[in-house]
Amino acid sequence: EEEAKSEHVVLFPFMAQGHITPFLALAGLLSSRHPNLAVTLVNTPYNIQTLTKSRAGAAIPSSIRLRSLPFSPEEHGLPPAADNTAELPFFQIVTLFEASKSLRSAFEQIISDISEQDGRPPRYIVSDIFLTWTIDTARRFGSFHSIFVTSSAYGTVVFSSMWKHLPHRRADCGDLFPLPDFPDVLIHRSQIPKHQLLADDASPWTVFLREQTSRFSETDAVLINTVEEVERRGLQMMRQMLPCSIWPIGPLLSSVLPSISSGGGGGEQIIQWLDSQPPASVLYISFGSQNTITASQMMELATGLEASGVRFVWVIRPPVGSDVKSEFEAEWLPEKFEERMQAQGRSLLVHGWAPQMEILSHPATGAFLSHCGWNSVLESLNRGVPMLAWPLTADQFFNANMLEKELGVCVEVGRGNMENSMADRVAVERMVKEVMCGGEIGGEMRRRVEEVRELMKAAWMEGLGSSLRGLSEFFRAAAAADRRR
Ligand code: UDP
Repeated sequence: EEEAKSEHVVLFPFMAQGHITPFLALAGLLSSRHPNLAVTLVNTPYNIQTLTKSRAGAAIPSSIRLRSLPFSPEEHGLPPAADNTAELPFFQIVTLFEASKSLRSAFEQIISDISEQDGRPPRYIVSDIFLTWTIDTARRFGSFHSIFVTSSAYGTVVFSSMWKHLPHRRADCGDLFPLPDFPDVLIHRSQIPKHQLLADDASPWTVFLREQTSRFSETDAVLINTVEEVERRGLQMMRQMLPCSIWPIGPLLSSVLPSISSGGGGGEQIIQWLDSQPPASVLYISFGSQNTITASQMMELATGLEASGVRFVWVIRPPVGSDVKSEFEAEWLPEKFEERMQAQGRSLLVHGWAPQMEILSHPATGAFLSHCGWNSVLESLNRGVPMLAWPLTADQFFNANMLEKELGVCVEVGRGNMENSMADRVAVERMVKEVMCGGEIGGEMRRRVEEVRELMKAAWMEGLGSSLRGLSEFFRAAAAADRRR
């Protein structure tokens, strides 16, 4: 095991579940396909500890080395052991963004340790899109730098362009306005979350995100967790925006990874319950690892669901404005809602963490009401599960757009999580029935999602698949860059 590997890759995801999960999948892919490559994944203590703890029973191969960067959340005004976005209220994510820049000297220490052990610097540094300062580290040590984008191409392009221009601040903008970089893409005002509506050029969100996106073009290569044949338009836009090579290498999925965030466990019960439900009869509902809806939206969603008569599993978190870790209060839902659902045996409310991949893989699951975080989208498409979209922030609005307008695998049922956002019980009831009870739109979505699933499978076919080709072209480009040095 300790035999010398010929090359080393160091992976550095941002401290969020939706980033760490695909980076781990990438680490697994690299170590299985390139046995000569030593693979190290670095992160802050809370995340590394959680991964190490869960390694025993879980899917993280021992060939992936995990290294912890010293980091104290308190020093940056964050709660203790909160170096993961799932542990933070949304408004503090920008503080974690800022704090991540302070990791540079610790990161360079690790790179320098590795260089000493291996007798040469790591050949590759693969960083998150939010950690572009690692480009300087790679230049200093002579490593090939790449950014691994964990969202969709379309979502990333539109999101970056919005922060670059903040077009909604112009007085002459109506409710619907063209994206300055791609005027055929129309943005609706309701697709801009509050922190962005309020942001000006000097706000910390703007400063951080502009700094990151303006440095994309300095990296040597971009790897992205998507599939060429699934995201043609998004990739074309991204290639127009960036000068470097862009290789789609998706879908890279969590192979039932354990929870990074607290509140795991209880998974078996959910699967047992699904075992007793008819095929494709259950709607799975989740807003991801770090977002939630408002109390009044929760009321609308619950009422609409109950009226639809459809079975569901709902992973439910306290509403916007309450402590992330607070106890769930019955008054956030219609009176006796949970008791009624339980008594009827028709539905399950999950407080905490759910084994999402297992749920989506289960034959009883018929559709996914999702916030359209990109990992959730890939997982759903990969399992051939159509979606009801309720995007809440960032790229999620644009992922939902693309899934509905270009792929036809999804229909939007709600939008945003501000007090004035869209959500109403009647729409929820109607859409849920349409998709779950044999409606025409639902049938068409099912047909389309099967096609997308096939395209995703084909991307990994030996010899022919576009994602496999992307990966080998990446290695070829790195070798060519080395020769030029
Ligand atoms: N996830 C899970 N159980 C949960 C909530 C989330 O397994 O109860 C996983 C989900 O499968 C996905 C990731 O966490 O892999 C969430 O990433 P995504 O990009 O969908 O959304 P984010 O949490 O980043 O907003």
